[in-house]
Amino acid sequence: MRWVMQKMTFRAGLAAIALAAGPAPVAVFAADAPVTEAQLAEHIKLLASDAFEGRAPGTEGEDRTIAYIVGEWAKAGLGAVPGSVTPWLQPVPLVESQPVSGTAKFKAGGRDFALGDDAIILTGREASVSLTDVPAIFVGYGVDGAGKVNADVTGKLAIMLFDNAPFGEKLPRYRERRQMLADAGAAGVLVIATDAVPWAELRESLGSKATRLADAKPGPQVSGFLSGEGADALLAKAGQKGAAMREAAKSPGYRGLALPVTADLAATSTIRAYDSHNIIAKLPGAKPDGKAVLFLGHWDHLGVCGKEDDADRICNGAVDNASGIAVLIEVAKRLAAGDRADRDIYFMATTAEEKGLLGAHYFADHPVLPLGDITVALNIDTIAISPRGTPVATIGRGNPAYDAVIRNVATKLGRKLDEDGEADAFVQRQDGWALGAKGVTSLMAGGSFSDMPLLEAFLGSDYHRASDNFSDNIPLGGAAEDADLHVALGRAFANVESWPGK
Ligand SMILES: [Zn+2]
Repeated sequence: MRWVMQKMTFRAGLAAIALAAGPAPVAVFAADAPVTEAQLAEHIKLLASDAFEGRAPGTEGEDRTIAYIVGEWAKAGLGAVPGSVTPWLQPVPLVESQPVSGTAKFKAGGRDFALGDDAIILTGREASVSLTDVPAIFVGYGVDGAGKVNADVTGKLAIMLFDNAPFGEKLPRYRERRQMLADAGAAGVLVIATDAVPWAELRESLGSKATRLADAKPGPQVSGFLSGEGADALLAKAGQKGAAMREAAKSPGYRGLALPVTADLAATSTIRAYDSHNIIAKLPGAKPDGKAVLFLGHWDHLGVCGKEDDADRICNGAVDNASGIAVLIEVAKRLAAGDRADRDIYFMATTAEEKGLLGAHYFADHPVLPLGDITVALNIDTIAISPRGTPVATIGRGNPAYDAVIRNVATKLGRKLDEDGEADAFVQRQDGWALGAKGVTSLMAGGSFSDMPLLEAFLGSDYHRASDNFSDNIPLGGAAEDADLHVALGRAFANVESWPGK
């Protein structure tokens, strides 16, 4: 699971396609052997052991992880996707960059001035970038009420606010707005930090490595952040008051303000290009009708995350997301061993989820089957949170026909439903989002996102820390029950008679 710095405010995509309502009859097969805590524990213990080095993409830990998952899925009876160039694997080309140094000098009214080193941080798109005499423009949120870029930024340094705009239907986050400004021709984008995240924290996270898809659209040549105080100092040199500018920017018709300021910006970064991999397997259906069910979960985690003198430097990611992979392995075994389902069922372990759902986005851009053939994508992430008996919450709810399948399957298994919608806050923080954005109905169902105090206890403690280790204290009862739920959901959505496949 992935932490983002902003509260989620919209649920576009996932619930957008509404089918005619009406509960469909659902087949739940009693013949599948229940998944046990011991079976899940065995996988998690191994995947989260130090030998896997925290499963960081592009490391030996990746090789071991691939070998294990492919081995287990092959034993289960799954096969590689026919025609794939690299059987079982989809290479995902990534580029990692880390800022090394950055300098910014400004000129206003013919006079040079600099901001304190701690007020600004810069990153270059290439290993070495330098821009001179770039005119600066304050663009507020960078978009207008219609969601379009609000000013002519061609060849300019756009200075933009971090927080979501207080207007408009879609509220693109700062990363998307920064990309829109780059697409519109901005040479550089400086983001004015929010008060919501302490500047010191933001600085530290921006100074660390960042990874993008190699085929992602190029961002601005130089991007960076200004502290709130640094921004006010810069605007003051331009004869403006920061508070008044922020206030003016709240209008949906705001068109930006060209500043009598030019900038010289230089940044150096280390850049590393490498391939990581999505692991994709197929269980052919008995009566294929061109529709398919896709199970997915991310295999990657944070790798070596601690400082040199830490006693435990490896973020092993036992709950996040060795637990989800363990469930994917056992679900595959049940579906392959029992009565063969009608439709094809695909299983995918994605890479680089922790770096921004990159593996899932890559698959969505380069699918191995037409996305329109996927009747449902079921994502499994951070599943070892709750005990047996926890109600089933579903992220991506809102399509009545799909909701009915989950309700019927869960009810037949003796599970209660949690329909309060609290789980929706996580919709953008999981791989299903990348598929949902392309129109694939993507759901994440289970108990982990139902009991908020339990989930928050995990997020506030072991989550993304070296302490997310395997131990006998990890609650696997809920995960085992959720695994059974997914076996039954797989059968229900792969049944050509009871589920039309949209
Ligand atoms: Zn995570």
